Amino acid sequence: MTLLTLEKVDVFYRDLQATFGVDLSVGQGEAVAIIGANGAGKSTLLRAIIGLTPVRNGRVVLDGRDITGLRCDKIARAGVALVPEGRRLFGSLTVEENLLMGAARARPGPWTLAAVYELFPAMREVRYSLAGNLSGGQQQMVSISRALLTNPRLLLCDELSLGLAPTIINDIYTCFTRIRETGVSLILVEQDTVKARDVSDRLYCLLKGQVTLEGASSEIRMDAIKAAYFGET
Ligand code: ATP
Repeated sequence: MTLLTLEKVDVFYRDLQATFGVDLSVGQGEAVAIIGANGAGKSTLLRAIIGLTPVRNGRVVLDGRDITGLRCDKIARAGVALVPEGRRLFGSLTVEENLLMGAARARPGPWTLAAVYELFPAMREVRYSLAGNLSGGQQQMVSISRALLTNPRLLLCDELSLGLAPTIINDIYTCFTRIRETGVSLILVEQDTVKARDVSDRLYCLLKGQVTLEGASSEIRMDAIKAAYFGET
């Protein structure tokens, strides 16, 4: 069953068109990766889904309901959460205070404070530390947990691996096995194409705001990804 559909989505920043007629879908429980170079429009699409950037043409449909143009908080209540690029924690608040922001007005569901501490045991140990004093990897765990605590049906993750060491990236991505067991669907924006292919069921490649490749991750060959990524024919 399809959870999210984008139909011919155009997003503009004033006169600058950032995406061109993007069609994209995410099935219930599916993990979809969006890859592409800097400026391809990946973050723009995530922001458009959650209502942070307006969709000028086209539609965003969540579980049969047209959510195009709804306010960000309404879309969050409908079950979409974003782990933003750069993590965006409140550095002068503790880890637990940051987490409780996610829990405020949360939908009912399996993700509680106890559940996210079980997902990331290392986070429990630093729960009274200021978020600003944590390492990048620890901050990413807090950012993912804060989004999970809203009990989303669809979790949007923007470049989780940015600036993190490879071992930490692996640790972070391991959590998605558990997250998916709870039925959460995922969109993972990644610059690391190998990682993106490994962790997803399906993959889309964006180039200058257009989808240049789409398919099952296990079937797409790396040379096809390279061609779509750089626009080679
Ligand atoms: P990155 O990996 O660098 O985050 P991206 O694929 O996520 O790249 P976007 O950030 O979505 O790409 O940017 C798509 C296009 O929209 C780029 O041309 C970018 O310069 C432009 N853009 C993004 N945000 C804004 C903004 N707030 N105002 C104007 N233009 C923007």
